[in-house]
Amino acid sequence: MKVMDMFSHCYQANPLKIFGSKKTVFARRVYCIGANYLKHVEEMKLSVEESPCYFMKPPDTVFSVNPENVASIEYPLATDLLHHEIELVVILGKEGVQVSTKDAEKMIYGCAVGLDLTRRDLQKNLRSRGNPWELAKVFEQAAPIGLIHKFSDIKNIRKMKLSLFVNGQLRQNSSTQNMRFDVAQIISNLSTFFHLRPGDILFTGTPEGVGKLVKGDSVRAEIETLSPLNIRIT
Ligand code: MN
Repeated sequence: MKVMDMFSHCYQANPLKIFGSKKTVFARRVYCIGANYLKHVEEMKLSVEESPCYFMKPPDTVFSVNPENVASIEYPLATDLLHHEIELVVILGKEGVQVSTKDAEKMIYGCAVGLDLTRRDLQKNLRSRGNPWELAKVFEQAAPIGLIHKFSDIKNIRKMKLSLFVNGQLRQNSSTQNMRFDVAQIISNLSTFFHLRPGDILFTGTPEGVGKLVKGDSVRAEIETLSPLNIRIT
């Protein structure tokens, strides 16, 4: 059955690039974890929850940026407070449901640096009214990522340094060892709610130091052993 031309873009998900390979992968679902670093929970004045907090972004918000390029990101609509959040991104390569923490890392295909861009003013407003805060997290170009590095090339996913610079100034600086729920715990817990499959992507939460971005800002996000990610707000 042929898709009508006017709908063909719906099937053209962004191909995600792999380090050292000409092959690409496609995102299936994009699961994001909120409030996963204690100092970020404190700076946001949130309460410390017993289990991970999840939200989702549509797959078409995720796109690859080569390390030698700077991606132009248009300042999003309907906000005066765009925030940066550097996050370790995990791409799954196997399917699983009700997976144990012991088996969870076997499902990982690779990792990348990601930015969970956020319309913070909308989030605060929606949260204060007890409404879902989807609008804060979902918009065009809301989830840029760097190249995907194979999991076998990563020394220790529980101990990777993260740093984010805005116009050369260090804003976020932490390590994945400060996660409240580590990647294995997240995968295991998520798999009690969803049948996970290859192409599922996890944004694993941001450390403290989130802050405002304005037009003209250059952002560089780095995670140890992974290709860096550079964007510019236009
Ligand atoms: Mn986030």
